[in-house]
Amino acid sequence: MKNLRTYGSVYFLILLVAAAGVIWYAVFTLEGSHHLRLIVFDIGQGDSIFIQAENDTQVLIDGGPSNAVLAKLGSVMPFWDRSIDLVVLTHPHADHMAGLIEVLKRYDIGMVLESGADYSTAEYREWHALLEQKHIPIAVARAGQKIHLSPKTELDILTPFESFIGKSPSNVHDAMVVSKLIYASSSALLTGDAEKYLEYRLLLSGVDLKSDILKVGHHGSKTSTVPDFVAAVAPEYAVISAGRKNRYGHPTQQTLDTLAKFNIKTFRTDQNRDVEFTSDGSKFERVLK
Ligand SMILES: [Zn+2]
Ligand SMILES: [Zn+2]
Repeated sequence: MKNLRTYGSVYFLILLVAAAGVIWYAVFTLEGSHHLRLIVFDIGQGDSIFIQAENDTQVLIDGGPSNAVLAKLGSVMPFWDRSIDLVVLTHPHADHMAGLIEVLKRYDIGMVLESGADYSTAEYREWHALLEQKHIPIAVARAGQKIHLSPKTELDILTPFESFIGKSPSNVHDAMVVSKLIYASSSALLTGDAEKYLEYRLLLSGVDLKSDILKVGHHGSKTSTVPDFVAAVAPEYAVISAGRKNRYGHPTQQTLDTLAKFNIKTFRTDQNRDVEFTSDGSKFERVLK
């Protein structure tokens, strides 16, 4: 009887230790991995970037040229998750906006951030009609805004420098929403289709451009990525979003040469498919699949 009781308490102890292990594993898993994910989707000729902060706040910056973005979101979000906290439209060109219209139709969006510039296309009108219909709050981006995604993660808005509300700039790329994602000590500069004009204005503004990742402006076109700008960002990684065999010749050799001159590890969605990075708060690392 005594022996039985001794064995009993030993088994009970083993069971207790195992249960504690399971509980700690569950706590760790539930709290998330404390890693931020940033994925530049292989979306064809366009831009679409998905961010999941370490507390699971989700951001989609641009939606690419088609409903291909829906399959991409399905590949990175759980099937039961039908909401995205923040959608950023960098500018209303179809290769950034068309896919977002499909996203608006199928997901609950917490808030939309855009430049406020006027743009007279049927798609842009549809975009605004849908935002109104679904009562989605719209914020107009201005340099200096900081959007807190978590206590340790923020999206800093670097441009536009001035209000474009009600204005139609001759080049809508000059009204770009450029942002810098910062998670603790790691950062990524997300330029949309910003061209030299904005790159020089950013340099002159004195804002801290230094980032671990540079999402190269305007699909690697020669309109963007001046050496002074690259020197100020001084990234470890560059990502170019461009479609396979696109008719614009993106990215240009000139841009690739500039990035090579600075020894930046450069990835292209037309060659590397989805380009994913993860950060533990200290630095970004590329996720290899
Ligand atoms: Zn574009
Ligand atoms: Zn554009």
